[in-house]
Amino acid sequence: MQENFNNLENHEVFYPLSVDEALNILEKHACTKYAGGTDLMVQFRKGKSQPVDLKFPVIYLSNIEQLHKISGNKEYLQIGSCCTYSEILQSSLVPEVLKDAILTIGSPSIRNSGTLGGNICNASPAADGVCVLSSLDAKLVVASKQNERIISIRDFIKGRRLIDCAENEIVQTILIPKNKIFFSKFEKVGLRGSMTLSKLSVCLVVVEKNEKKHFQLTFQAVSPTIIRVAENEEIISSKFIDFSLFSNIYRKHFSAIDDQRSEREYRENTAILLGYKLYKQAYESVFATKKEL
Ligand SMILES: Cc1cc2nc3c(=O)[nH]c(=O)nc-3n(C[C@H](O)[C@H](O)[C@H](O)COP(=O)(O)OP(=O)(O)OC[C@H]3O[C@@H](n4cnc5c(N)ncnc54)[C@H](O)[C@@H]3O)c2cc1C
Repeated sequence: MQENFNNLENHEVFYPLSVDEALNILEKHACTKYAGGTDLMVQFRKGKSQPVDLKFPVIYLSNIEQLHKISGNKEYLQIGSCCTYSEILQSSLVPEVLKDAILTIGSPSIRNSGTLGGNICNASPAADGVCVLSSLDAKLVVASKQNERIISIRDFIKGRRLIDCAENEIVQTILIPKNKIFFSKFEKVGLRGSMTLSKLSVCLVVVEKNEKKHFQLTFQAVSPTIIRVAENEEIISSKFIDFSLFSNIYRKHFSAIDDQRSEREYRENTAILLGYKLYKQAYESVFATKKEL
């Protein structure tokens, strides 16, 4: 197959038009995978007015039409990894809670370039899309020339900026199970409503599992990676618990850091308060009972 690339002053950039073409290129070349560039450009910026220091060759994935598709089958909603936030906002298939989170990301121009696949693969502890996808139990189709595998988003993101994706693989599709959703809410704390990364974010989704309402609660930016705790979800789904127990069972999983955006103590305290607020709202909404805080 002829490779579609430009040589920009000896900087090779590949522009595949299909997934097969991209995977063939990645089999032969160790490339920087570039989708919308909104994270890469920040990461590799050398300084004011200096060029961005990308590792070449670069493979530009966003010309691949297949990676911009949003469709569904009986089991899953399927979102192509290069769908931009703006494309996702236009789809009637996408759960509202994901759209709510997307509307807090960046500005319209960032949402026109930034992709959901990039948000996942950048593996920032503050990624808002990831927070919601985790609560929705999303899985990823990860493809190489030889293989295609499905992995849960929580196993794929192994730590801060650490993902289970080999050099010859790409995230092709994001799969969201088509569960009936009884309650869903995303909350984020940042310096402003948008154009700012989260200090922390929380998402709660209540779905039906084994004929019971199951509470799926994710905390972001209070540890190097996503916090979802299976045994805690059994507890919070089985009965309404008070704030002190809720705080005890979740806080021990937190290991937030102090950084330029916030302090550890503020992050952890606020995350617990927000998480409990959503839990109480969900309980009242799903079971139509009033609960005292
Ligand atoms: C001003 C500004 C504000 C922002 N605000 C927010 C915010 O509020 N919340 C938030 O969560 N984020 C925010 N972001 C971050 C950013 O927009 C998102 O994380 C974006 O979704 C990244 O997608 P991208 O397509 O630009 O990724 P890129 O920058 O192209 O890539 C990011 C990483 O993912 C890899 N990658 C991309 N696609 C694939 C793929 N298909 N397979 C394998 N690897 C891949 C790349 O190699 C790279 O390592 C902001 C960014 C800016 C600049």
